[in-house]
Amino acid sequence: MKITNIASGSKGNSTLIELDNKNILIDIGLPISNLEKRLGRPFPKIDILIITHTHVDHIKGIKSIIREQNPTIYTLENGLTEKVSSKKINYQKSIEEENLIIELFEVSHDVPCAGVYIKYKNKELVYITDTG
Ligand SMILES: [Zn+2]
Repeated sequence: MKITNIASGSKGNSTLIELDNKNILIDIGLPISNLEKRLGRPFPKIDILIITHTHVDHIKGIKSIIREQNPTIYTLENGLTEKVSSKKINYQKSIEEENLIIELFEVSHDVPCAGVYIKYKNKELVYITDTG
């Protein structure tokens, strides 16, 4: 599990998690072209996109990634559907695939917001943003 914090702060947030055969992106607060520049290499194909909440600095690039890569999207935040009406959004707290467990849990913020727990093989990650 390789974790890269591509962007962090009020202008945009995005964290890339690369597994052996699958890539996960948590939040997409900037368009892919901008994230790719920051990453300094071709932006990888994202299989799973997790949106913690719908503040613009976490979703600004969502239309670009739907258009260019069409990843499976998970979130807990009901408001996402109206922002990307053409795309199916999965509202579920737990995702299990081979060697991979992802769990979303509620954290305190001024809008509904998810924390993310990821277990891949013997590695674990907890990601929490904007809470308070
Ligand atoms: Zn926020």
